[in-house]
Amino acid sequence: MAEMKARERMRIPRQEMPTQDPAARGGNFDEVALGFTLELARLEAERCLQCPHPECIEGCPVGVRIPHFIRALREGDMVGAVQAMKAKNNLPAICGRVCPQESQCEANCVVGRRGAPVAIGRLERFVGDYELAHHTSPPERAPRTGKRVAIVGSGPAGLTCAVDLARNGHDVVIYESLHHPGGVLVYGIPEFRLPKAVIAAEIDTAVQHLGIEIRTDHIIGRTITLNELLAEYDAIFLGTGAGLPSFMRIPGINYNGVFSANEFLTRVNLMKGYLFPEYDTPVKVGKNVAVIGAGNVAMDSARSALRLQRLNCRPGEEPGEVHIVYRRSAEEAPARAEEVEHAHEEGVIFDFLTNPIEIFGDARGNVCGMRCVRMELGEPDDSGRRRPAPIAGSEFEMAVDEVIMALGTSPNPLVFEDADGLERSKHGTVIATEPTGRTTKARVWAGGDVVTGAATVISAMGAGKQAAADIHAYLSDPSAWEATGS
Ligand code: FAD
Ligand code: SF4
Ligand code: SF4
Repeated sequence: MAEMKARERMRIPRQEMPTQDPAARGGNFDEVALGFTLELARLEAERCLQCPHPECIEGCPVGVRIPHFIRALREGDMVGAVQAMKAKNNLPAICGRVCPQESQCEANCVVGRRGAPVAIGRLERFVGDYELAHHTSPPERAPRTGKRVAIVGSGPAGLTCAVDLARNGHDVVIYESLHHPGGVLVYGIPEFRLPKAVIAAEIDTAVQHLGIEIRTDHIIGRTITLNELLAEYDAIFLGTGAGLPSFMRIPGINYNGVFSANEFLTRVNLMKGYLFPEYDTPVKVGKNVAVIGAGNVAMDSARSALRLQRLNCRPGEEPGEVHIVYRRSAEEAPARAEEVEHAHEEGVIFDFLTNPIEIFGDARGNVCGMRCVRMELGEPDDSGRRRPAPIAGSEFEMAVDEVIMALGTSPNPLVFEDADGLERSKHGTVIATEPTGRTTKARVWAGGDVVTGAATVISAMGAGKQAAADIHAYLSDPSAWEATGS
């Protein structure tokens, strides 16, 4: 068949991903986006112009060979597509679902200058899912080097670092404080955006095939310290994330029914609270829920709370309301546009330019209301966003029985017990050299949210990858640490 001309390719519209009906999905935890069929995937792949200097790759923190995998896909060479993908990204089924593509690879796609960019993320998900179903290209391991590396934390940073080091023949052990590997992928991002089965299968393919050992229920800083690990291993990578939640400093935050988004989402996701009592994790089902904040974590919390309400609603009863309460306007909301849209469609109510100033409790100490104030936007602050200020006399009360704070997180300091010489910033993040991830402590590397503060899955993976390359160089020639200085 003759090659299609660029003009013809540009005329093909971006293919929509089938999704669960909004009315139905608000009452279940099943995945919302259903994925491309082979037909849709190949049609979308036809839109790629196979640019000789593909700018899309520059937008990807791990440098996925985007035109290569798309070309293989449209030619029907699925093994080639998987191999092109896996050369740079071990977790495509995960990234294809949760990467903020619109501000990364797709933001750089030239097709996007005249219309909608190529749906790189959706194609990546298709290739990742294909590999999970067909197992065409299990990762290969180089001969054993006898060097031992401990990875602390099994989120995307730790997993990626572990896989790259194991591929190079090093013996890798991952230490994880929770009872399941995956980090935020399992305890934070809800089932309806990223099914646990996809995470487990992708971790299995990438990690178990390479003989990596995962020791769950090990808290570094408690079960064993960093200095003790250093005595046992040649190198350590810290990928412990930023899981310590922030709370507002307002009266009433200690009442029953005020949660951090982290605790709420961990109960719902990791411990399957939505299947209570089948799973023994009680979780509060509020009738009137206020989620404070408007980032992705807030959207995940609101959409989870809404599902809990509907699942627990008796016939003929009103399920209740879930509000997002945010002190700035819709334009400043940090969540992905797609997440905000999904939340809207499902029935979440948005109270923009609104700030809580006090939470009320009843005689039993349970949350029963919240006083808020209306806000207006002034001049931009340090973050470049317009500074919100309260409008005098605009206070009002909201009836709520559950408040979920989704206001950002910082690294949990537990891991730094007995870790002398490991310097941290005033925000509690580990100071590490770019791009190697070397810390101020010899033989210790760090990457992901523990270095940057809360960021993205793919930036954590990119940091894990770069640290793995530097650890491999060091293990191959230990004088390299001193030579490059740190
Ligand atoms: P984490 O994923 O946090 O993993 C760190 C791991 O270290 C955890 O498993 C933790 O239990 C473990 N650990 C911590 N301390 C210790 C210790 N002392 N000993 C042993 N183990 C320890 N990003 C996106 O790109 N797209 C999204 O859609 C998205 N949605 C999100 C939704 C939510 C609710 C949240 C909270 C975050 C979201 N993010 C999203 C951000 C993204 O998940 C993180 O940036 C990413 O997971 C960071 O990876 P990491 O490996 O650095 O850390
Ligand atoms: Fe785009 Fe993320 Fe895939 Fe990179 S990993 S190509 S940024 S979707
Ligand atoms: Fe294809 Fe867009 Fe990348 Fe060009 S920039 S190779 S069109 S995905």
